[in-house]
Amino acid sequence: MNGSMVAESITPGALKTEEEHRRDLCTAGRWLRERGYVVATDGNISLRLDSRRILTSPTGVNKGTMTEDDLVVVDLEGHRLSGRRNPSSELAMHLLIYRLRPDINAVCHAHPPTATGYAAAGIPLNKALLCELVIALGSVPVARYGTPGTSELTEALEPLVQGHDAILMANHGVVTYGPDLLTSFFRMETTEHFARVSLVTEQLGKQVLLSVGDVEKLLAARAQHGIQAAATIGPEGPVTCDAGDAERVTLTRRELETLIDEAVQKDRTRR
Ligand SMILES: [Zn+2]
Repeated sequence: MNGSMVAESITPGALKTEEEHRRDLCTAGRWLRERGYVVATDGNISLRLDSRRILTSPTGVNKGTMTEDDLVVVDLEGHRLSGRRNPSSELAMHLLIYRLRPDINAVCHAHPPTATGYAAAGIPLNKALLCELVIALGSVPVARYGTPGTSELTEALEPLVQGHDAILMANHGVVTYGPDLLTSFFRMETTEHFARVSLVTEQLGKQVLLSVGDVEKLLAARAQHGIQAAATIGPEGPVTCDAGDAERVTLTRRELETLIDEAVQKDRTRR
């Protein structure tokens, strides 16, 4: 096998030797760095080596230049089993996802600028704007802010992990996960790409959303693609053009103020 080719690709699937897993994790780190999804020593990546061991990136190291020797092996409680460095500072977040999702074998955390912008604005990527995104990720919610490396952060993520494969972390970044490292990385790439397209529609001042019928067909296709996370139409699912249109009204500030004044007047006269 050609060594340089192997270094620049990640084999799909999770059945690999530990050596292959280590090489792939460093490749994913380089990809995160090359695409500008992480700077300095940001971000962290991990994967399941077997039923009780997780291979993770170390803390304090640039993910683009980390080497196979920098990686750390921990158990599912986060105790270091091997490696000379300390594991990622966000290890608890990774372990939470592995605990809640037995189907997940790899987790990526990064700060891609556009999706992180949405996270900082508290805006979920949940509009049914692109068919491929609905199939790949359903919708991407925002988890409320939690201090990095604390239980605040894991508690904020916990209710969302089961129903989503990508989550925006408020005022922080993005976490994605999948059945293997390549899928987990692709979900990060897809989330950032969708954030960019979404931003362009905001700049154009117009968004044409898919209908409930269209989204139902796309969500049904998820099963055929072997995607396990539940994605449904509802408060957690993609927002369609049919959502709440009957109730939506547009008011100018003046009209709104008049309505409020009238309501307050009525309330006063009643007393
Ligand atoms: Zn982070």
